[in-house]
Amino acid sequence: MTRRFTTGLLLTIGSAGVLSAQPGGGNRGTAVPPGDPCPPGMTEVRPRNCQAPTLPPPSIVDYRPRSTLVAPVHLIPKAKYPAIDFHGHPTSQLNSDAALTELGRQLDALNIRMMIAANNVSGPALVQQMAVIRASTTMRDRVRILAGVNFGGVGPGWAEKAVAQLEADVAAGAVGIGEIGKGLGLSTRKADGSRLQIDDAALQPIWAAAARLKLPVFIHTADPQEFWQPLDYNNERWLELALFPGRRYPAEQYPSFETLMTERDNLLRRNPNTTFVIAHLGWHANDLGRLAKLMTELPHVHAEVGAVLYDIGRQPRAAHDFFVRFQDRILFGKDSYQPEEYPYYWRVFETRDDYFDYYRDYHAKWKLYGIDLPDAVLKKVYFGNALRITSRLPQAGFPK
Ligand SMILES: [Zn+2]
Repeated sequence: MTRRFTTGLLLTIGSAGVLSAQPGGGNRGTAVPPGDPCPPGMTEVRPRNCQAPTLPPPSIVDYRPRSTLVAPVHLIPKAKYPAIDFHGHPTSQLNSDAALTELGRQLDALNIRMMIAANNVSGPALVQQMAVIRASTTMRDRVRILAGVNFGGVGPGWAEKAVAQLEADVAAGAVGIGEIGKGLGLSTRKADGSRLQIDDAALQPIWAAAARLKLPVFIHTADPQEFWQPLDYNNERWLELALFPGRRYPAEQYPSFETLMTERDNLLRRNPNTTFVIAHLGWHANDLGRLAKLMTELPHVHAEVGAVLYDIGRQPRAAHDFFVRFQDRILFGKDSYQPEEYPYYWRVFETRDDYFDYYRDYHAKWKLYGIDLPDAVLKKVYFGNALRITSRLPQAGFPK
């Protein structure tokens, strides 16, 4: 039997009734009632029995244990099939022929055939970038641009102007709309000063124009759910939020995550003839059941995988089944352009490797696993679905 003494030492009474220190050299044990967490600084070493380390514990930024797991390693520097990055954010790469040519060299090394620039550009900037792309002998079929929509000042007369600009952008070469940023819903204000809701009726003409012009609408709504939660030691993204405090959404300043999801889903429901691609798996990569429900209800909704690899790779069996089930509606995309990060995606999608590092420690203190997608699914996710829903893309250069 065990008894907790006021000294905090956990002593056991052996069969002979003699008090002794815990076997194994432990000390300072503390019993806790069933269901209670251990006190701060302690960890559960036996059921309902907590203990503090005998050395000062490292901070979470300094604790970098070497994995001793010996398991097959399949690094995948190049995608198995030519990929379309539907969520590209090239920056200076579209400014000159030389920069564009260098982008092509980097994409070749990754087997990315095409990048779709989702930089929310419109008007003269879009015309200028398309001119650089069209003038390139090597890249003219390998970069395309989504048109931005300016949601500032929504009020009387806004829709006519926005639709006219969209038509002009399409004439200049835009292949879709996006990336509609998270500002829509979170912070964008209407002309009257009120928050512009994602499902505001004043925006309907844009969604109707997208359907008429057969433009996919690429939309990023909200952010990871933990950004709305208290920043305590139960927050799965504590480190990220401590590194980047601006990513938090205090309730007194911002609509809730669920409010934004409700508005987004209203938008999707009201526009069944418009093709939508929700970025970052709609921020439901941590709840694929919820995403499956949404995508089952709304067959015009597609989902893009950028920047949520840490959630895909920590549930390899569920993610594999989800990708197989929705293989016609998942699109590859990366988000921020860092060439060295793409191979992590290839490895998660193409292998069955166990327990390997993600590229950003602060997003995810856990390891990833390959989800081992069949070739037919890989082809659709890498390029087939993007080609099908984006009819203005150059369609050559992809396998059958
Ligand atoms: Zn983006």
